[in-house]
Amino acid sequence: MSALLIRPATLLTMNHARDVIADGAVLVKDRRIAYVGPAVGVPVDHNAEVIDAGGKLVMPGLVNCHTHLCMTLGRTIGVEQRLLDWLEIGMALMRATDQGALYLAELLGCLENLRNGNTTLVENFFFPRRPNEVPEETAFRAMRDSGVRAILARAHQSRNQAADFVESIDEQDRAVADLAARWHGAEDGRLRLSLGPLLPWVVDVEEMRRSRALADRLELGMHMHVAESPAFNRMIARHHPQPWRNVELLHRAGCLGPATQAAAVSDISDTEIELLAESRTPVVFDPQTRLFWGTGFPSIKPFLDAGLTCGLGTNGPAANCGQDLFESMKYACATAKTATDDPTALGRSRVLAMATIEGARAIGLDHEIGSLEVGKRADLITIDLSQPHLTPAADLEAALVYSARGSDVRDVVVDGRLILRDRRFQQIDEAALLRDVATAAVRSMRAADLDPVHIAAQANI
Ligand SMILES: [Zn+2]
Repeated sequence: MSALLIRPATLLTMNHARDVIADGAVLVKDRRIAYVGPAVGVPVDHNAEVIDAGGKLVMPGLVNCHTHLCMTLGRTIGVEQRLLDWLEIGMALMRATDQGALYLAELLGCLENLRNGNTTLVENFFFPRRPNEVPEETAFRAMRDSGVRAILARAHQSRNQAADFVESIDEQDRAVADLAARWHGAEDGRLRLSLGPLLPWVVDVEEMRRSRALADRLELGMHMHVAESPAFNRMIARHHPQPWRNVELLHRAGCLGPATQAAAVSDISDTEIELLAESRTPVVFDPQTRLFWGTGFPSIKPFLDAGLTCGLGTNGPAANCGQDLFESMKYACATAKTATDDPTALGRSRVLAMATIEGARAIGLDHEIGSLEVGKRADLITIDLSQPHLTPAADLEAALVYSARGSDVRDVVVDGRLILRDRRFQQIDEAALLRDVATAAVRSMRAADLDPVHIAAQANI
């Protein structure tokens, strides 16, 4: 039985009482938390590996509810394009990406998330369909090897100008059944599968109903982009027979519900918020990405007032050039304040919950992760508080939301396994991975007729 003892530290438990414990300790045995409390009361375990966390904060690992690691190689490309034009460039790059490069992109994306303290992520995955390739297998292998906790949300599209990204609904049924059998619940539950349409206009209503039925049959969740911008609602009106707005479309297709995550929710009406609330559908905010694209942002407070469960996401590394959920917290508060001219619109305490326990609830994992509580899976991070930008921290929650950043994370534990120690990965050679990714990126960009000049210099090619 492996054991890990982290002490002495300030503990931000995110439990129901929101206990903060000064001079505390956490004992991890195998995959689970065995003790959380004052350091003086921790059970003696002479075999435990000790992490000296003096001057640090221990808190639950963050939950990144929406990203696209499959697009990692496109980081910094098209940053001044419109969103849908950028997507075309990203798809061209993915078309030129082989499975070896995809594995490296996914692995790097996982490491970036872990380094920022995101112990759980939802990978909204799409990729060109090619004979004899199962790209989701490649992504799952990278997630397995990285040590991160992940849900691969497999995106489906049955119509698109890019024919190689398309599959029939029958093909989706077969592929999802195969993947569920191999990966859903793999690594003792660390890896999971969900599904959903990539965008609301790449499927018809009947296909959405089929996806819902498939998810129900295999007991999988659903995950999808919803109303990212006004342009999205215009696209829906163009491609569907009735001029429904996005949430109304999902309602009529039977796709709303507690096991569905609606990501982005930027251009949403009050009626749509009511539909989300009635169906108890969780939403995922990615405010820095909304601002990155300049497409508007959700006002957030109406979602809170309606009682919705809210998670946070970063969106993909190529969609805002980062994976820092601390940034998501800060931008969420800032945009909520701006939208309502109300400085209390989204408080620091609530947004910390969105990044941890509430985000875990949004993806159906709050019984296992999201707080430091005995019996839960040991997903936790330490944060170095002894830094200029975190001193003084008169209000710990405010310091985490408004001053901290992903680079302040020192240690990362996922499922009881020490992944990052004093900012060094324990199992993976990060320097070698960076070199390999740079080489793979140059290969993919050249194949896509994109200019890899800067990255070629980085890769020394
Ligand atoms: Zn997205």
